[in-house]
Amino acid sequence: MAYVITQNCCKDASCVPVCPVSCIHPVSGAGEFTDTEMLYIDPEACIDCGACLEECPVDAIYYDEDLPADQERFREINAGYFERHPPQTHTPAALVDRHAVKSGALRVAVVGAGPAACYASAALIGVDGVEVNLFERLPTPFGLIRAGVAPDHQHTKSVVRIFEHVFSNKRFGCYLNVEIGSDLTHDELLAHHHAVIYAVGAARGRELDIPGNELPGNHSAVDFVGWYNGHPDHAHHTFDLSGERAVIVGNGNVALDVARMLLLDADHLVATDIAPHALAVLSDSTVREVVIVARRDPRDAAFSAGEFLALGHLPGIDVIIDSTDLAAAPDDDAETELKLRIAREYADRPETAGNKRIVFRFAASPAEVVGSDRAEGLRVMTNGSPEGELITAPLILRAIGYQGSAVEPLPFDTARGVVPNDSGRVVDEDGHPVRGVYVTGWIKRGPRGVIGTNRNCADETVAALLDDFVAGRLATDVADPAGIARLFSERGSSPIGWAGWRAIDAAERQRGAEVSRPRVKFIDITDMVSAANA
Ligand code: NAP
Repeated sequence: MAYVITQNCCKDASCVPVCPVSCIHPVSGAGEFTDTEMLYIDPEACIDCGACLEECPVDAIYYDEDLPADQERFREINAGYFERHPPQTHTPAALVDRHAVKSGALRVAVVGAGPAACYASAALIGVDGVEVNLFERLPTPFGLIRAGVAPDHQHTKSVVRIFEHVFSNKRFGCYLNVEIGSDLTHDELLAHHHAVIYAVGAARGRELDIPGNELPGNHSAVDFVGWYNGHPDHAHHTFDLSGERAVIVGNGNVALDVARMLLLDADHLVATDIAPHALAVLSDSTVREVVIVARRDPRDAAFSAGEFLALGHLPGIDVIIDSTDLAAAPDDDAETELKLRIAREYADRPETAGNKRIVFRFAASPAEVVGSDRAEGLRVMTNGSPEGELITAPLILRAIGYQGSAVEPLPFDTARGVVPNDSGRVVDEDGHPVRGVYVTGWIKRGPRGVIGTNRNCADETVAALLDDFVAGRLATDVADPAGIARLFSERGSSPIGWAGWRAIDAAERQRGAEVSRPRVKFIDITDMVSAANA
């Protein structure tokens, strides 16, 4: 018997250092290829101690015998990984030797409150003496954990509990409802801190440059995700769910999230923290088929195997694979081989009359959104059909990835949508580090990776920052922190502290409890501020 990592793995590797026999792989820093979708436990080496289960922030680890029916397959998936990637002996990387710093000697501002900002704050607070002030535009923390992770993935959202000790630390200052650039400028931030880490993510959807892209009914999936998750910037969107079919462009994990949200029945949605307006609209939806269109072959699908496998357990929904190119090649890695195997299983399954359908179309490039005054369908180009094929649908969602925006006045790589950097140190156009300015998360490395990927990323940035501090490369003379409060008061800004967020959180949970839901989110910023101050 052994412990097994399942679909929900956030890959932040909290489990790795606590494993006494180092049986969780791949391990960053052990010379292993670490670009996998999740972590795996070697059943041959596991000694059943359960330390990993205790440590997992998202409840993704189960004892073999306790695997829920829809996660059973992960027993074989964990073992299968080690058949192709024999574990390398490694000693867990020693924690970076970070000496305590003198009180007041290193004060760092973190901009943003999503997973990247949270992991950076945690790494900094882990060094005795370091002070951290976090600034976030919204009155609520946690970025994409709150407003990106699909509502039916409530376990994933529970990762926030590992940051509790950070936010309640005496050396941590929390300034929610503060926009850098308007409430406080970059220069003012830097004047009051020895260093600033921008962890502002990538908030926009990538654009698709095809005719008809501007037609109503054709939306970015980023807007749809923000809408169903109650992000204040996206609550106003409207989506036409009156047709039988919706088309999604792109087949990454966002596409799969969106497909599930479009097809799940109201009684499933109501058990989540989906925004009330989205619950009402999706409950009345007539969509019965979602076509997921990808320009490449099944072998290159962007979704992760765990998420793909989970589609097969959705009640009342069939998964249809429109491709015969599903054979694995000898040099496929374990995850690609697994995806192709799952695809073959779906292709072999008989359809159930009356079920809804998720249809995967491969090797079909979007060519045109067709319609006179609103979207009526998507024309795709496929091999062997020079004029293409029209997939009719009144709703088209472009799940083709996120895009970072420039952070004034930092340099910006427009093509990649990232702030140019060297291991997290922001660099100018000559490649020289900009003193005291750092980045982490999607604005540093682009919009790739799951929540826990941000942990390594933040550790790298924080290590660079600490190196610069030790080497005397940071400013030593910064203004009294009380000056920030004076600026807020002069400008009429109303920052919300951690206690304010706790009040919002409690109020949302209370609203949820009244209707047997985990939480009913506030959507309007004024309501959030009122709850924070109540
Ligand atoms: P993604 O994984 O990068 O997928 C983007 C998809 O859009 C790909 O299929 C890509 O195809 C396609 N695409 C891009 N440009 C296109 C174009 N011009 N025309 C047609 N197709 C185009 O992005 P994502 O789904 O937004 O996810 C972002 C990150 O968040 C990923 O790392 C993802 O794993 C993570 N995430 C994880 C979860 C989860 O773990 N449950 C949930 C949501 C998001 P090509 O491959 O051909 O470029």
